[in-house]
Amino acid sequence: MKFNEVIGQQSVKERLIQSAREGRVSHAQLFWGPSGSGKLAIALAYAQYLNCASPSLTDSCGVCPSCVKISKLTHPDLHFIYPTTTTKKVKKDPESKLFAEEWRTFVTEGKGYVSLNQWYDFLGVENKQGTIFARDASEIIRRLSFKAYEGKFKIMLIWMAEKLHVSAANKLLKLLEEPPENTVFLLIAEETEQMLTTVKSRTFQVKIPRIDEDALTMALATTFDVRAAEVRHIARMAHGDWLEACRLYENEEDEKYYFHTFQQWMRLCFKGNVPELIDFCSNIASIGRERQKSFMGYGLQLFRHSMLNNNHLAGLVRVAGDEEDFTKKFAPFVNHLNLLNLAELLEEGIRQIERNAHPQILFMDISLKMIKLLRIKA
Ligand SMILES: [Zn+2]
Repeated sequence: MKFNEVIGQQSVKERLIQSAREGRVSHAQLFWGPSGSGKLAIALAYAQYLNCASPSLTDSCGVCPSCVKISKLTHPDLHFIYPTTTTKKVKKDPESKLFAEEWRTFVTEGKGYVSLNQWYDFLGVENKQGTIFARDASEIIRRLSFKAYEGKFKIMLIWMAEKLHVSAANKLLKLLEEPPENTVFLLIAEETEQMLTTVKSRTFQVKIPRIDEDALTMALATTFDVRAAEVRHIARMAHGDWLEACRLYENEEDEKYYFHTFQQWMRLCFKGNVPELIDFCSNIASIGRERQKSFMGYGLQLFRHSMLNNNHLAGLVRVAGDEEDFTKKFAPFVNHLNLLNLAELLEEGIRQIERNAHPQILFMDISLKMIKLLRIKA
């Protein structure tokens, strides 16, 4: 990737470019900083800049054969090691090279913005911790014994260096101190306290700060289709973490969907419109079990808000805008005679989904009971 694809981090970019132009490239650098700040993205842009055939004052060209190969993560002089563990595919002796294809897909899809947990999810091993093994270190040594055959620099990128096993680290110490000519180690870490001091002390540290709010705002506005006010809100909440910003955006999108869908559902139940309810239930059957559960959980919250509204406890209600309008209008139909039953209906619905109930039949069944319950007046 090019530096201009890295979100914010202007001063880091400038320092890296400046030192490269002056021929001051430290042979072992540690890029460290918080999650979502773009450490890997910066390292990839830097690797591309270092090997670019015609770099400008501000960026790599992006079109020379070297840039193209680095952007596809297929450059023969760009090597990666990262934490791995046993998976369904690799049942014993895991190491980075056995996951090369998964790694390329993972990093490419995340455009260089990825977290360790996402990597574990990607490998399907949520409950296991990965390690960088001595096997990985031996592979680095083997690869560095060949001459660089295309690039100006051989780049050895170690992602999540805090996961270096002590036996792996010990194998690398000498290389970190005196690497072969034109070799650059780029280590990336989040928790430098967890890193072995023997490794840390052999690197030149490049601190990657949180992304500033303006840069985050701009990136959100260009990546997603959101209103300006919402963009600023998400950027503020994300505290300079691009991954968190993306997660918040997705949550808000889900909430909007749940809100509109729940509103539609309640209207249909209130009118007792069975043919349209059948269509509604067939749509909701297609959104997947996790989202069906979240949707009903969301409905439970709205019932609660409506009840509080009814009892003039509106101050306790933490909803805003459209949701507030809806709960106010809906409030008269939720009362002490039906609230418990309405809530129980959704709670039972969530349990049924967990037990693999047929979603379309389940939602229709709930709808019919809802029609009756909403007619009970206090
Ligand atoms: Zn280039």
